[in-house]
Amino acid sequence: MQKAKLTLKTSPDHQTIVQISEQVSVGGSDLLIVGGPCAVESQAQMEAVASRLVMAPVQAIRGGVYKPRTSPYDFQGLGLEGLKILAAVRERSGLPVITEVMAISQIEAIATYADVLQVGSRNMQNFDLLKALGEINKPVLLKRGLAATIEEFVMAAEYILSHGNPNVILCERGIRSFDTYTRNVLDLGAVVALKQITHLPVIVDPSHAAGKRELVADLARAAVACGADGVIVECHPEPEKSVSDARQALSLDEMANLAESLSAIAAAVGRTIPSRAGTSSPRLSFV
Ligand code: PEP
Ligand code: MN
Repeated sequence: MQKAKLTLKTSPDHQTIVQISEQVSVGGSDLLIVGGPCAVESQAQMEAVASRLVMAPVQAIRGGVYKPRTSPYDFQGLGLEGLKILAAVRERSGLPVITEVMAISQIEAIATYADVLQVGSRNMQNFDLLKALGEINKPVLLKRGLAATIEEFVMAAEYILSHGNPNVILCERGIRSFDTYTRNVLDLGAVVALKQITHLPVIVDPSHAAGKRELVADLARAAVACGADGVIVECHPEPEKSVSDARQALSLDEMANLAESLSAIAAAVGRTIPSRAGTSSPRLSFV
């Protein structure tokens, strides 16, 4: 791994813990479980998501408002209106929120409303965006490029760190290969390698890797078993009606069941899933 100066471990127990909110962190012994839809579609949708997930061992909510779609004719996200929905849901549930940033011009607004800024696969090597994210003081969730090598992934993180932001979370989300049965190939070997060579938290997105909901829960469990610091999973109140990535979305009950099922695996690898009781009581007022 040439030239990476800041991202690699300097000793075997060198590990960065990224604080996402007052109560939620990733990279330490707590396992991070993130759930939420591919895209923020409406206030009602996000309230349904948050009111179910706040009852489950889920620590953060995801939802895209700037969506990188293959077709320019597909839904592009709610933009600022979506950010306001995320902020309202965060306020009422107490759960931190994660959303994607696609352009430098979006950073200021997203950093105002969200807790973690996600760099999507398609932007992993958007070096100007990475440099700009190095200058903010919010955590960045950096997803691996569709066909990025581990070295390219590490060097992308290095851009953010070298511009001053140490709070980077790496995310393996599947890489392109020849087989079309799954949307991508979940590279758990990369997770093990990244955990060995870098000090950054590494989480796994089994949803975009699998592309099929029936594969997601087992892949999430495998990710935790091999040492991932967390998982980020797409779910929706009415999965088949999702405006994007419907085929891979879990129902909210499936998401909650998956989160529950991770505790035995987490315990086997020396991790704990913080219970809701361990956090400040949720200011939940959805019902
Ligand atoms: C997403 O998280 O909704 C997304 C677009 O992911 P990726 O960048 O990994 O494709
Ligand atoms: Mn998606």
